[in-house]
Amino acid sequence: MKQECPDTTAGLSPDPNPDIAADPVPGPDPEAAAGPAPAYGFDTLKVRAGYDERSHHFSTTVPIYQTVAFGLDSPERARRLFTLEESHPTYSRTANPTVAALEARLAALHGVKGAVALATGMAAVSCALINICGGPGRILSTYQLYGGTLDGFENLYAQLGIQFDAVTDANSPAAFERALTPETKAIFVESITNPLASVLDLEALANIAHAHGIPLIVDNTVATPYLLNPFAFGADIVVYSATKALCGHGNALAGVVLESGSFAYSPRTYPQFSEKLWNLRSAADQERSILDVCPDTPFTSRIRMVLLNSLGATLSPFDAWLILMGIDTLSERVVKQVQNTQAVVAYLRTHPQVAWVGYPTDGPGAELVQKYLPKGAGSILSFGFKGSEAQRRRFLGSVRVFLYQANIGDARSLIIDPELTTHNELSPRMREKMGLTPDTIRLSLGLEDPADLIEDLRQAFAEASQ
Ligand SMILES: *Cc1c(COP(=O)(O)O)cnc(C)c1O
Repeated sequence: MKQECPDTTAGLSPDPNPDIAADPVPGPDPEAAAGPAPAYGFDTLKVRAGYDERSHHFSTTVPIYQTVAFGLDSPERARRLFTLEESHPTYSRTANPTVAALEARLAALHGVKGAVALATGMAAVSCALINICGGPGRILSTYQLYGGTLDGFENLYAQLGIQFDAVTDANSPAAFERALTPETKAIFVESITNPLASVLDLEALANIAHAHGIPLIVDNTVATPYLLNPFAFGADIVVYSATKALCGHGNALAGVVLESGSFAYSPRTYPQFSEKLWNLRSAADQERSILDVCPDTPFTSRIRMVLLNSLGATLSPFDAWLILMGIDTLSERVVKQVQNTQAVVAYLRTHPQVAWVGYPTDGPGAELVQKYLPKGAGSILSFGFKGSEAQRRRFLGSVRVFLYQANIGDARSLIIDPELTTHNELSPRMREKMGLTPDTIRLSLGLEDPADLIEDLRQAFAEASQ
């Protein structure tokens, strides 16, 4: 399968006119609206963008297009579809209208055009890195990464020829600049790191990357687009595990890659975007490149047409629908979760059984919070449990409101000891490099009553010190 170019809203309209289908905002009749589209705020876009109910029997919620294939109608139309003269889904591995609505909504929430949804956050991270390297290459990052991403660098990515260079001091942009090599294809960081929750200076990193002709890729999973839009600070590509706060209910896995559309991929460093491909040929059998066909969205279009097409890490329409439903309440959930997190941070800070607290407002990046996270520093925190291993286990076994499980961003509050669990796959060397100590306990705050959460921790600390 090929086709499905850049238009993230492809297929939203029964009349596949990209001009109408791509209208990312709700509003007056597009035919009547001659002037510039009104600029809607985040909370309006999060419940409306990327979906025009007039094209779907006025269905209030985005319909679940639970179908594999879409009729081609006639050989003439099939030819137009397969030479990308007409943009409309033909097969759900690479495009589906429900998934397209999710892609368009997330693109609108970031003020960009390009988005591609994938089956999981790891599919998004892996595809972003494989796509930027286009073969062997080096990625400059830090050790402050999600365990699955670090595991990829230690195993699969290395086997694919993608080498990992990491600065030890993630808070030093100068350290990134020193660690660049001629083979470095991108800087990749998490805006708020998981599990230690520190904030990186994205704008400084974007400037360094651009001065060297490479893009900045940001995993913004923990921050969410409500708290931080990395594109506003120079990021070129943003990835999410939508499984976490975007979904918000712990009931679906998903990932997404978005692009600014403004990075210039030089043919020398990134030939994968300018090489002419037979399978992108025009109706006149002219071979074309990804940049020829999708000049505004080369990065996400190549993920869709090459990686998603061959690897098949496709998001199901039903799971896309669950993520859309989660995004409806993203701001409201995040506001409450940040409040709960602040209450728990304040409680832990003075607790005698707590050795340290890792939350962006506390760490070396505290001043960065003002700049990047004025609405709050997220709902993940970690702390050092003061006591023996047996006491730590008793503590984890005594919580009643917090759920002991490996997830974040759920409506329910979660607790975990990363060394034994989420970061278990990492070698001791890697854990030491990332500063993950055995006493680390990570919390992901949910939507419960804050007093119940604090009381739960209090009684678990008391139980542990018996
Ligand atoms: C969970 C997570 C991922 C991976 O997402 P999955 O949906 O579980 O594959 C990637 N990055 C970060 C920061 C995460 O928290």
